[in-house]
Amino acid sequence: MGMEFYSSQISSLVEQLSKLPGIGAKSAQRLAFHIINMPQEQVVALAGAMTNARAKVRYCKECCTYTDNEICPVCASPQRNHKYIMVVENPRDLAAYEKTGKYEGVYHVLHGAISPMNGTGPDDIRLRELMARLHEDVDEVIVATNKTLEGDTTATYISKLVKPLGIKVSRIASGVPAGGDLEYIDEVTLYRALEGRTDM
Ligand code: ZN
Repeated sequence: MGMEFYSSQISSLVEQLSKLPGIGAKSAQRLAFHIINMPQEQVVALAGAMTNARAKVRYCKECCTYTDNEICPVCASPQRNHKYIMVVENPRDLAAYEKTGKYEGVYHVLHGAISPMNGTGPDDIRLRELMARLHEDVDEVIVATNKTLEGDTTATYISKLVKPLGIKVSRIASGVPAGGDLEYIDEVTLYRALEGRTDM
């Protein structure tokens, strides 16, 4: 790789950067050189933001999304309808739904989906935490996992666990784009998806 031609400081920076997902050796080198040429205060701000986020962000005690406090703003809000729990795969999905401002219930973030292929089982996602939240005040669990094999497997699994408790389980209608595209969901699409959700 020619690492020995660089300073040991740069080599070490390249090594750390290449541990990030999606960053190959070439990207790591490009980023390292970019960082070396950034103004000092910008580098300090970047490093500080990383250290602070890692140290201070935690999981909401209720819904398991990322938050600065014990309970996230959605769970803490008395304006939200706590009888409806929408189950999503990750905090990015929650943010996409929140941006539309059209959903009045609360969420549950699984931090993944069941995937036998990748060795991710029910115990590897925040399912136990979901089950612990289900009591008689909950009217409906809306499963909004992605329209992928993993998302569907997870939805079926949740349905089998929750329905025997006498709580309604629905699956959000197709039309909601899978994965990262969810970030661009608009109000109308979300409204249609919610209205068109089907019982499981
Ligand atoms: Zn929460």
